[in-house]
Amino acid sequence: VTLSLRTRLFLATSAVVIVALTLVTLLAAREERIWVIEHSAQLLERHARHLERDLGREHRLPSADWQATAVELAGGYGDRITLIDSTGRVVGDSRVSRERLPDVENHAGRPEVRSALAGTTGRARRRSGTIGVELLYVAVPVRDVPGVAVVRIAEPLTEVSRLRASLVGLLVSAALLSLAITLALIFWITGRNVARIGELERVAERLRAGDAHARARERPADEVGRLGQAMNRMAAELRSRLEALERERDEREQILAHMSDGVALVDRAGHLVRANRSLAVLLGAPLAPEAGTPFHDFARSPELDDLIDAARRDPRTVERHLRLWSPHQRVIRATATRLHEDGAGAVLLVLHDLTEVEQLNRVRQDFVANVSHELRTPLTSIRGYAETLLEGGLNDVEHREGFVRIIRDQAARLQSLVEDLLSLADLERPDAQLRYERFDLREAVVRQVGQQRSRAERAGLRLELESGTPEIVMADRARIDQVIANLLDNALKYTERGAVRVTLGGDGGHAWGEVRDTGPGIPEEERSRIFERFYRVDKARSREKGGTGLGLSIVKHIVALHGGDVTVRSTLGEGSTFRFAIPRAPG
Ligand code: ADP
Repeated sequence: VTLSLRTRLFLATSAVVIVALTLVTLLAAREERIWVIEHSAQLLERHARHLERDLGREHRLPSADWQATAVELAGGYGDRITLIDSTGRVVGDSRVSRERLPDVENHAGRPEVRSALAGTTGRARRRSGTIGVELLYVAVPVRDVPGVAVVRIAEPLTEVSRLRASLVGLLVSAALLSLAITLALIFWITGRNVARIGELERVAERLRAGDAHARARERPADEVGRLGQAMNRMAAELRSRLEALERERDEREQILAHMSDGVALVDRAGHLVRANRSLAVLLGAPLAPEAGTPFHDFARSPELDDLIDAARRDPRTVERHLRLWSPHQRVIRATATRLHEDGAGAVLLVLHDLTEVEQLNRVRQDFVANVSHELRTPLTSIRGYAETLLEGGLNDVEHREGFVRIIRDQAARLQSLVEDLLSLADLERPDAQLRYERFDLREAVVRQVGQQRSRAERAGLRLELESGTPEIVMADRARIDQVIANLLDNALKYTERGAVRVTLGGDGGHAWGEVRDTGPGIPEEERSRIFERFYRVDKARSREKGGTGLGLSIVKHIVALHGGDVTVRSTLGEGSTFRFAIPRAPG
């Protein structure tokens, strides 16, 4: 059984106090006894000296009746008085009858008598053989009285004891009273201090339970107060550290959740400790897996299982490229790292999706191949005709002009190709900037139509403009001009007969322009692809007309940069309608 702190402190201090008080009381009682006896002895001595003087004055006869004298002297007081001669014989005693006097032993050997016979006052305490009680004796020498040499006076110690008993009683009551007061005080003080400690304990318990506002009392600023202070500081410190940790954990969670890489931590038993959503996406699962799911069941990829096994054996990071079917084919770079050196630890798996990178790579390769191909045809023909001219063609008066014309046309084609490539490169730069200004889209269209009118007439086509109301837009004027020019150019290029009609309008937040032709139309399955770079429906025809295959992709880029869109409607054999829309100027 553990006693409470209060009980223990109380018992310990009480024990100390009780022992101390008892010791003090005992010592005091002893001192008191010595003092009382000394005091009584002095009184007796004074009395004895009085008796000596009285003897000297009244009983000078050597043959006096000393027995009667002794009784007479004792009469006034209750003391025993003994008269002794120089040989130690008792000549009178107030407590012994005359008849028994001769039987009384010689007193010369009694210590007090011996001192008195030697001339000094003698004292002794003992049980009297003569009357059978404990007595205090004082003997003084008697001078000038013949027949008596010593007067001895004795007092029963019962008197002394009675005095002592009352004094001791007083002492003990005082001791008991102070003990009672002290114990009460100790009880109160220990109670108060223990209660403060108990309060600290409760505060600590509340802190443990997560109560952030629990605070210990700091006053009075003694040890317990300082303990409270230290506890409060500790609590505040812990709180702030905990908050920092929580913040850090949340940040980590956020980072993990929003990472595009798939991350999984697999424990040594092959169970997922944690994984993010991207991992689930890469593995084709609808939701991030729960902790504890076996990785093998979740991923269903023997290659990944292999990789994790390899990482368990290898202290370095293991990296592999693999294909996952989830449900589309994905190219993945997977790395697995063992987290602990002892070989029994968890493995961190990171899946990086390379599909897009691969696709971009392919697009780039295709593009380079396309550009090379586009450049080769005009270059070959320029070189061919130039060689023909050099090898005698210059003298062929009939054809040489034709050859030079072809060289010029091919060079022009090269030039427009390069120009289109440059504008495309410009538009595709990540920091491509538009020079925004307010202008009337209708004016821009009217100007472009005006520029193409003579070309249309030469081709025998009608070019019509349905001019509506002004459409104010906030856009890059030069680039919008390019959009209109490209669409008009295509319409005029691919239309054999009939008309090209341009319409303008606006709805909601957008202004739109439409170029409709009566050309061959575009097959449905090709309509989405004509906006790709170098994509042509009819390659030979496009080349013959000087097309680069880049016009529509430039249009699409520009309109997209403006936050608008471009669409195409078409009926085979009847014609096509291209329509672009860009945001109107605000206000
Ligand atoms: P190109 O320089 O070859 O015209 P574009 O990118 O401008 O390149 O157009 C891509 C292809 O879309 C063209 O090769 C052509 O086959 C088709 N096309 C574009 N405009 C029209 C149109 N108005 N009518 C029919 N086909 C068109």
